[in-house]
Amino acid sequence: MSNSLLKTLENAYPDLHFKSGKKFSFRAPRTICYVENTPNFDSLLLHELGHALLHHTDFATDIERLKMERAAWEKAKEVAAELTTKGPAVTIDEELVETELDTYRDWLHQKSRCKKCGLTRYQTPDGAYHCPHCER
Ligand SMILES: [Zn+2]
Ligand SMILES: [Zn+2]
Repeated sequence: MSNSLLKTLENAYPDLHFKSGKKFSFRAPRTICYVENTPNFDSLLLHELGHALLHHTDFATDIERLKMERAAWEKAKEVAAELTTKGPAVTIDEELVETELDTYRDWLHQKSRCKKCGLTRYQTPDGAYHCPHCER
């Protein structure tokens, strides 16, 4: 695997472990998995780096997860801008960011819908969903 961004990040963040895996993911506290030869490789790699740099571990609620996803992309953009000042330009694909966040929003929407009455349920800090109509 001869991705130049990967090499740059391996040198810049010696505390993190970058390894080839089945999907892009961050495993706390410091392992980043990537998939070789993926379209948008650079953007996805920087996104996982964003999770690592923000020390994301676990989330109790799905809303928190969505916030973390957004935060990781913001961090990815910061790192890309920083790298661009030092070497070859690194860009984050904005369209990809929106698509990825939409996927999470849809997922959240589906998950929060009450199967009995269709109302949007709310999630308590323990992670359980409750319907304001059915659970009165
Ligand atoms: Zn993510
Ligand atoms: Zn309901």
